[in-house]
Amino acid sequence: MEIVSYTPVTRSWRNTFLRLLFGVIFAAAGVLLVFLRPDPAGILIALLCVLMCVAVIWAAIANSYTGACPTCGAVQKAVGGMHRCGNCLAYGEIVERQYRQMQPDCVLNAPLFAALIPEPCYMPKLCTGCGMTSTRSERLRIIRTEFAFDLEVPFCDLHRGTAELGSEIAEGRKHPNIPVLRVASYRFYREFLKLNGRGVE
Ligand SMILES: [Zn+2]
Ligand SMILES: [Zn+2]
Repeated sequence: MEIVSYTPVTRSWRNTFLRLLFGVIFAAAGVLLVFLRPDPAGILIALLCVLMCVAVIWAAIANSYTGACPTCGAVQKAVGGMHRCGNCLAYGEIVERQYRQMQPDCVLNAPLFAALIPEPCYMPKLCTGCGMTSTRSERLRIIRTEFAFDLEVPFCDLHRGTAELGSEIAEGRKHPNIPVLRVASYRFYREFLKLNGRGVE
């Protein structure tokens, strides 16, 4: 394993508190619904409230840190788990109160490294699953209201299903739903950004 740099993170008590407060509100709404509307629809909404309660309490505990990106130094708020820097687009991981750079050869079990698909789009000749030289490509398709297109995505002989097309909500845009390519290999992700002029580092 290569040595990667890291920065310390601190808990944002404001985010933690706000999220816990939302958790309590969802829990109270769930309990109230069970009493006020004990029919199937009411119980279903109450269950959804409980799920939301668990999700925000989890976010309060695990995703309420503030720290500087170990790659570019930009301060990132509400980080936890795996995080993509909003400034340099490098991914990092929050582990034991440290914001660590991803290992350059890191490969995830699922395609979770998400890169905006530019127009035109250039593909590195690397497998999206392992980051080694690609030997073939597959045509992936995405259909949304705002856009629909096919994209040839590279793989090696061993990997398939290690890339997918999806969309993300981008703030401050006229059409906030933007297409992204999600891959499992961090090496591929970085090369993809570099080739398309949005390099990490
Ligand atoms: Zn950064
Ligand atoms: Zn591969």
